[in-house]
Order: sequence, then structure tokens, then C-alpha cells
Amino acid sequence: MSREKFSLILQESKEIAPLVRHLSFVRKDGQAFEFIPGQFVNLFFEFQGEMLQRSYSLANIPGQSNDIELALSYVSDGRASDYLFNMMRGNEILCNGPFGRLTLREEQPKRYILVATGTGVTPYRSMLMELSKRMHDTQAEVVILQGARTPEDLLYRDDFVSFADKHEKLSFYGCCSRALSNPEQAYERKGYVQDQFEALNLNPENDMVFLCGNPNMVDAAYAKLTENGFTAKNVRREKYVHASH
Ligand SMILES: Cc1cc2nc3c(=O)[nH]c(=O)nc-3n(C[C@H](O)[C@H](O)[C@H](O)COP(=O)(O)OP(=O)(O)OC[C@H]3O[C@@H](n4cnc5c(N)ncnc54)[C@H](O)[C@@H]3O)c2cc1C
Repeated sequence: MSREKFSLILQESKEIAPLVRHLSFVRKDGQAFEFIPGQFVNLFFEFQGEMLQRSYSLANIPGQSNDIELALSYVSDGRASDYLFNMMRGNEILCNGPFGRLTLREEQPKRYILVATGTGVTPYRSMLMELSKRMHDTQAEVVILQGARTPEDLLYRDDFVSFADKHEKLSFYGCCSRALSNPEQAYERKGYVQDQFEALNLNPENDMVFLCGNPNMVDAAYAKLTENGFTAKNVRREKYVHASH
């Protein structure tokens, strides 16, 4: 973990869903950026003479490149949203990190259930290689539940769907609160992510659950899990809370 700030240079910014951009940076000093899948960085930018800080989860798989990839969901009138959405290739921004404890650790559950809304799914994209290793080494199963309004809002859908196609122990479900595709895709489910819990036959003895993204979803899902015997020991949570300034 590093509180020291360093400069990043924007390599690419592209829209990956309505009002969501994938940003790819490299360190200006050329050093590699080491992190554990599931961690986040802080970005710093000036707004009306004040230095503001916002956190963003790392979306890429560590070790595959020196890139620092993030997914940014646009918040109307949001200060970081405006700043980051308007960054151009070659622009610089200050960063520190990595931080965060939404990571895969020593535990060896029979099943990981990874639950997210919106950009909260980026930590799970970053974890795909490590999950693949664990599915192989410990025979663990993995279920990824991503919540969005419509199928077009599902982030990195092709990555998750093709990963699930190649790994029989991994299931991916895109849970849409509004419309499904016509015709429906096999991975689509109607409703909220936590509505899928019942079909999973949750078992606190076997399952390790991760919750990431919208604070309301994290609280609602955690409430359902505690009703099923889960505690903070087998649920790891990260809320995308709003900054206070
Ligand atoms: C650990 C952590 C990781 C995070 N990772 C990501 C990530 O990977 N991708 C990502 O896009 N965001 C992420 N966030 C949220 C991010 O840090 C910012 O809060 C978000 O980008 C909004 O910042 P802003 O400056 O644009 O909005 P602000 O200027 O802070 O807020 C503008 C207005 O919008 C409201 N608001 C702020 N955020 C939201 C929201 N999400 N929905 C509705 N209203 C809102 C505020 O209350 C305020 O009224 C993360 C947060 C945390 C704590």
C-alpha cells in the first residue's frame, strides 16, 4: 500500500456501456504497478482551487501489463465524473494506492459468490485469473451476479460470458431490474442480484460472499445473507460511498 502519489498518463478512454467509460492509464515514471485483484486506487484532481480525491476499483488482471484500468460510471454534476470523462489521451492525473481488502485470501470455500452492481463488478474482472487458479487447485465453484438496469448496462459482459463458457465451475448471471433482451440470453435473469440468492441454496458453511458497489444493494444483500446464517466472517463488502467533499 502506498500513500505516495505518482502521475498516471491516460492511454485510452472508451465507452463500454451508456454513461460508463473504461479508462486505461500507465505510470508516468514507467514503473510497474503491483496490486492484488479487488483493490482500488485514489485519483486526485483540482476542482475550484481545491484538491479532491476519489476512489476507483482496478479492472485489469495484475501482471498481464503495466496498465491501470478503471471503469467510471458517470454521476450527473459529479466533479470527478466531469473531470475524468473529459480527459484526453496523454493527459496526466495524480494517483495513489493500491488500497482495499475486497481480496481473495487464504480461505478455501467450496463456493465463491461474487455480487455487484454497476462498476462494482470491476474487482471481479480483475480476479478472473486468480479465480481460475482456485477453481483448478481447490475445486471451488464461482458464481458471479452482476446487477444492472438493462442488458446494455452489463459491464464487461463478453469477458464474463466467455470466461464462464471456458470454465464449467464458473457461472455468470446478468440480473436486470428493467428489461431483458429479446430473445433472452441464457445468462440473463430478471430482478435484483439479491433475488437470485434463493436459487443458489446459500450455505454459510460452504460459501464465501463478496458484495461490491451501490451501498443500498450491499446493505440489502447483507441483510438477506445474515437471515441465512452468514456473518462478517464469510461476507466481504465494499460500498461505493460518495465522498463528503
Ligand atoms: C472504495 C471505492 C471504490 C469505488 N470504485 C468506483 C469505481 O470503480 N467506479 C466508479 O464509477 N465509482 C467508484 N466509486 C465511487 C467514486 O469514488 C465516486 O464517488 C463517483 O465517481 C462520484 O464522484 P463525483 O466526484 O463524480 O461525484 P460528486 O461530485 O462526489 O457527487 C455529485 C453529486 O452526486 C451524488 N452522487 C455521487 N455518487 C453518486 C452515485 N454513484 N449515484 C448517485 N448519486 C451520486 C452526490 O451525493 C452529489 O450530490 C468508488 C468509491 C469507493 C469508496
